[in-house]
Amino acid sequence: QFITFEGTEGVGKSTQLANAASILKALSIDYIVTREPGGTPMAESIRELLLAPRAEPVNEITELLLMFAARAQHLHTRILPELEAGRWVLCDRFTDATFAYQGGGRGVPAERIAQLENLVQGSVRPDHVILLDAPVETGMTRARHRGELDRFEQEAVAFFERIRQTYLDRATGSPARYHIVDASQSLQAVSDEVSGLIRE
Ligand code: C5P
Repeated sequence: QFITFEGTEGVGKSTQLANAASILKALSIDYIVTREPGGTPMAESIRELLLAPRAEPVNEITELLLMFAARAQHLHTRILPELEAGRWVLCDRFTDATFAYQGGGRGVPAERIAQLENLVQGSVRPDHVILLDAPVETGMTRARHRGELDRFEQEAVAFFERIRQTYLDRATGSPARYHIVDASQSLQAVSDEVSGLIRE
């Protein structure tokens, strides 16, 4: 199973990824935990390039191509071989993040993103997408408390509202692989819901 975790800043993706991993471990299911952008040495270098603060404005197509360059490397050299070896892959963000951030956030048309998705992934899609959804302010307050505001996160709240909405639109209008979890609930309630989804 290829399972991805999505959501805006501070919704608890890392916590829930660790939670999902502990369930698989208890069930003796082999798995790996990985993330995007990143997941291989080269893709992690592209991540550093993407997240570094810089004076030069970054063109949205440059950003989009770098995201997919990292993804091509990650998918073909790591994710697919792991799945073929029978291991589950838990991934912190994947292509839904590109539709949400570069699409909804930066305004790249969804059709353009879909073209790159087809080029890089062929017919490969996650088996399940766990979307942790919470009001933008809730997540940003949490992220701010952790001192985690990088280049992307210093954006206006409106930017994150568009990202949240794009995630929700994709999750509600699309295939059964999407599972929306209300991440504004207590940590215990969110964890219970995610554990339930993983067991199912
Ligand atoms: O998931 P994580 O918070 O570690 O991602 C790092 C940053 O990269 C996020 O703050 C997000 O704003 C940004 N990002 C992006 N487009 C993506 C994936 C991540 O802008 N497709």
